[in-house]
Amino acid sequence: MSSKTVAVIEGDDAAPEAVAPTINLVRSLDLDIDFTYPIVGEPAIEQFGTPLPEEAKAMIDDADTTFFGSTSGSSGVALLYLRWGKVTYANVRPSKYFPGAPSALAKPEGIDFIIVRENLEDLYLRTEGHLQDLSNLGLVSKTSRKPLAELGEGRYAIKAITRDGSERVLRFAFELARTRRHKLTVTSKYNMLPETDGYFLEIAKELAQEYDDVEMNHYIVDDFACRLVANPHQFDVTVMPNLYGDILSDAAAGLVGGLGLAASGCYGDDYAYFESAHGTAPDIAGQNIINPTANLLTAAMMLNYLDFSSAAERLNKAITKVYASGDVLTPDVGGTASTNEMCDAVRAAF
Ligand code: ATP
Repeated sequence: MSSKTVAVIEGDDAAPEAVAPTINLVRSLDLDIDFTYPIVGEPAIEQFGTPLPEEAKAMIDDADTTFFGSTSGSSGVALLYLRWGKVTYANVRPSKYFPGAPSALAKPEGIDFIIVRENLEDLYLRTEGHLQDLSNLGLVSKTSRKPLAELGEGRYAIKAITRDGSERVLRFAFELARTRRHKLTVTSKYNMLPETDGYFLEIAKELAQEYDDVEMNHYIVDDFACRLVANPHQFDVTVMPNLYGDILSDAAAGLVGGLGLAASGCYGDDYAYFESAHGTAPDIAGQNIINPTANLLTAAMMLNYLDFSSAAERLNKAITKVYASGDVLTPDVGGTASTNEMCDAVRAAF
């Protein structure tokens, strides 16, 4: 196998405390992987006068993938490049219960589903502005029947659902469903928003004809949210527009032990990058207690992407063992161990 290159951006606040030992663990597996460290954010501003210098972009481009710690502040521009610049349109967020992890549910055993979140459009175009700027367009609210011009002072945001953007993420989800239980659940607010969320469902239904080996069903997103909490076992692969996926994947993490276990990978046709679903956890920065599981599970997703699938499987099994023994867990999942101690325990169980 030819050697692979991973660009590592450790992130901000508490993120590096989880990313660094995760990468150390992956390094210790002696896989044929080179690691490069693009400089972004504040240090890049100091050194190069810009948060995402050409050198950093080139390192990201040259790598087979990027492992990214959550960012706040100026390094966020690297995230924009990895997502919109590299067109990583499918955000895969698994929720799998590891016995030994705390859960609010009485019977969390067996929860194992994936949220595929459209990653580039919907409200995340971030095209927002003042309502008065739209007043000359003659737009009328379909619910209040009032012209927008009469709404008074306020703001708007554009929600865009495109055919290409929807089709590629839905296709990705159908393909993923084929590798699992051949079940796909589509959700959006298609009853209230037929032109946008309804369009997303319409395209899903079209593709369902092509993927007739996958059983597709759909729920309105509020109904889906209730089902997600009441009976998450029913789901396998699910797919939804960006905002719903962002919110519901954090809710889903709560079912299986919290954000400390929330893994995530963003896939496009030519590139993928891997970043845990949680943020920078600024409130626990500097304490060496951030749960590394999300980053370790994310690393396993990355290893799969790089075709080190047996190492990925062993890493997942090692994490399962550490939760099952319950001896070396960070405080957020009921233990007293430090981040480094938990990583060491996972390495020992590998
Ligand atoms: P973002 O908007 O970037 O998602 P946020 O500030 O909304 O960030 P997080 O940084 O994810 O959210 O933090 C939310 C809460 O979850 C915080 O109390 C944080 O300490 C906790 N948290 C997040 N990730 C972890 C983790 N890996 N281990 C322990 N606690 C975590």
